[in-house]
Amino acid sequence: MTLRVGVVGGGQLARMMIAPAVELGVEIRVLAEDEGMSAALAATAVGDYRDAETVLAFAREVDVITFDHEHVPQDVLAALVDAGVAVHPGPAPLGVAQDKLVMRARMAELALPQPDWAAVADATHLQAFLDEHGGRAVVKTPRGGYDGKGVRVVTAATEADDWFAALAEDAGGGSLLVEELVDFRRELAQQVARRPSGEVRAYPVVETVQRGGVCAEVIAPGPRAEERVRLVAAEIGVAVAEGLGVTGMLAVELFETSDDRILINELAMRPHNSGHWTQDGAVTSQFEQHLRAVLDLPLGSTDAVAPWAVMINVLGGPATGTLDERFAAAMAAQPAAKIHTYGKAPRPGRKVGHVNVIGDDLDDVVYVARAAASFFD
Ligand code: ADP
Repeated sequence: MTLRVGVVGGGQLARMMIAPAVELGVEIRVLAEDEGMSAALAATAVGDYRDAETVLAFAREVDVITFDHEHVPQDVLAALVDAGVAVHPGPAPLGVAQDKLVMRARMAELALPQPDWAAVADATHLQAFLDEHGGRAVVKTPRGGYDGKGVRVVTAATEADDWFAALAEDAGGGSLLVEELVDFRRELAQQVARRPSGEVRAYPVVETVQRGGVCAEVIAPGPRAEERVRLVAAEIGVAVAEGLGVTGMLAVELFETSDDRILINELAMRPHNSGHWTQDGAVTSQFEQHLRAVLDLPLGSTDAVAPWAVMINVLGGPATGTLDERFAAAMAAQPAAKIHTYGKAPRPGRKVGHVNVIGDDLDDVVYVARAAASFFD
């Protein structure tokens, strides 16, 4: 009998599960927020993922529920579990990904390496943390941040006044997360897949380059990531996956500090932008692997198929009015580049696609990827 996966969320991550689902012979259905979303190529229901009845009705048509984002509320997840639905990742690990304060507390319990941090309920607490950490720190809203929104470097506690006020108003209280400002050499990301029955596989650690808080480029494997860094990153990834009981794909964003430590920045429990290179650069793409993992099928090899892979995100911008023409021009100019498009309208700063290039020589691979991506500048 054909296995059926239901993906809550209709964005590009759900869309990119469709091709491997077809290849694996898995039926994929999507619960999208709106009509015409990126993943509407699959059988799509439109409905509110915050409404338990809507999600339960969607879940009745499939064998397992998974997600393209981490925003499904805990009461909806609980209703699914109570109804006997297989939910991967489950409510407990998802709860850790939904709240950066919960995440920091769980990483501390697991004794995993991370920046100094504190939960601060007001400006006085924040100032105390600043005073202990050289007068600079990073303040984060625990919930709902993405692409650098909800992350702010501050040198005075008053710089977070608006966030404290918003917390008091929207959430009826609560705390902000404050972290030491990490002096990092570079940012890395570690992907791990884990099945409900326990099998885990780690991908090679990658280097991620952020611009304006958004992931711009990924190089796989992380250049100059010596054996020690690769092993430590993989160990951390597996420890998080096993410690939290993650099922499906996990991405652990990491800092490599200038004094050679590897610290956890944040977690994502789904396919992740830092793993898009695997579509063309690994034996098993993260999207295929996610489907295998949530269906508890044997995991595929995470080996790279070439010495280097580079991924560059394509963002919408003022110049990308004629996106289809630009994609075609990039294809014509750089036939070695693999072009991935999300079927999204090009608003400024919005991720609308990416380019993957693999090869033997890193300089060549970077050159071809940037040349292809330059059609969207
Ligand atoms: P988001 O949830 O928006 O992706 P992150 O917590 O990943 O937010 O932070 C976004 C970026 O801000 C990181 O990729 C990193 O460049 C920078 N950053 C986050 N936390 C710290 C920190 N403690 N020290 C230094 N830089 C940080």
